[in-house]
Amino acid sequence: MGIKVAKFGGSSVADAIQIGKTRNIIEADPDRRYIVVSAPGKRFDGDTKVTDLLYLCKTHIEHRLPYEQLFQVVCDRYKVTEVNLGVEADIQKHLDEIKETLEKGATADYVASRGEYLNAILIAAYLGYDFVDAAGLVCFDAKGRLMPEETDRALRKELEKHERAVLPGFYGSTPDGNVKTFSRGGSDITGALVARAVDAQVYENWTDVSGFLMADPRIVENAKPISTISYMELRELSYMGASVLHEDAIYPARVANIPINIRNTNRPQDEGTMITAKAGPVEDGQIITGIAGSKDFTVVAIYKNMLSDERGFVRRLAGILEDYDIPLEHLPTGIDTVSVVLSNKKIDGRLDEILEEFKQQLKPDSVEVFEHIALIATVGYGMSARPGVSAALFTALAQVGVNIRMIDQGSSEMNIIVGVENKDLETSIKAIYDAFVK
Ligand code: ASP
Repeated sequence: MGIKVAKFGGSSVADAIQIGKTRNIIEADPDRRYIVVSAPGKRFDGDTKVTDLLYLCKTHIEHRLPYEQLFQVVCDRYKVTEVNLGVEADIQKHLDEIKETLEKGATADYVASRGEYLNAILIAAYLGYDFVDAAGLVCFDAKGRLMPEETDRALRKELEKHERAVLPGFYGSTPDGNVKTFSRGGSDITGALVARAVDAQVYENWTDVSGFLMADPRIVENAKPISTISYMELRELSYMGASVLHEDAIYPARVANIPINIRNTNRPQDEGTMITAKAGPVEDGQIITGIAGSKDFTVVAIYKNMLSDERGFVRRLAGILEDYDIPLEHLPTGIDTVSVVLSNKKIDGRLDEILEEFKQQLKPDSVEVFEHIALIATVGYGMSARPGVSAALFTALAQVGVNIRMIDQGSSEMNIIVGVENKDLETSIKAIYDAFVK
């Protein structure tokens, strides 16, 4: 069989009991040769993740506040785990080194990365696998951007030398040797990079849920699990806020055509969700794959007589947004109207300025603004080439009295996006779910 890369998230490696479960999983399949680990996460509700404690240490140091007690909490967690696992991994020596570097004014990235570093050392010792540091292998440029090809080459070359290894997730280094972290949750990306470098047959991402659900369980009770989803469908859903996997983890797996399997460390018997290049066969009667939604967008509708005859209108419009560094989320158009959908976070209080620019440069007849809009994506290959899907969706919303403020259907027919008022988000998702999921 091929190689499997298994990445374990924070809650899967939060303490010795959880690490024991990961060992059972790893030992159950000899193909699980390369393991990527997060820093210890929450052990119970209200607990603090080690990464958060480390960031807090750094903030204390910057404000010249005593940080020793905080750092001691981190040290204690690792030392207790070391004892409970019954391994000798020289954790105290590593902790002393880290403390020394902290006192010399380490960067925030270095501090934050130590959670993964220490955990990988411990877990490698416990499994009897080699510890392979990610610094020097996961390569960032001087501006802190990941260099995927360099990383792939470096990881390939190094991992060839190790039959079995544990690597820390979340960080790498810049050309000058400084540690650089990904954004939060970034160990998922490391896992995908490792999977690509060893030509893995599958990238297993072990977490504390049995994969993706068709809708947010806080909105839809007992939402059904998704057994197979394509990268593209997932991208649409995660863009709208469905979060289990870091968005940037998809690219490295996708270029190498490696399926990602989301699994539950606490329920290894569940098959989880398989993310594949192609959409799986549409299950009988299943029309949609999932629904996700996100609040706080603004729709600006621009009307101009004979707009359809004008040249360069959309280019000028996009140029204004580019000047403000605001991405265009959606662009629904009519004959004499163009609407832009923008995220409030990106607008960042500059709406009046932007509207003024629109007026100056585009000379519209009128501009209408709808604030407090939520977008809902209903996603699934099963929708394409199937008559009546939009009708069913709009009827479901009409029946619960939701007013649709915007509609955008991607050309792939895999996605219908509707804009509703923020307050209607939950009701709408429930109504769509009930209409399509039997
Ligand atoms: N430990 C890091 C975080 O909490 C990275 C990760 O777990 O993926 O964000």
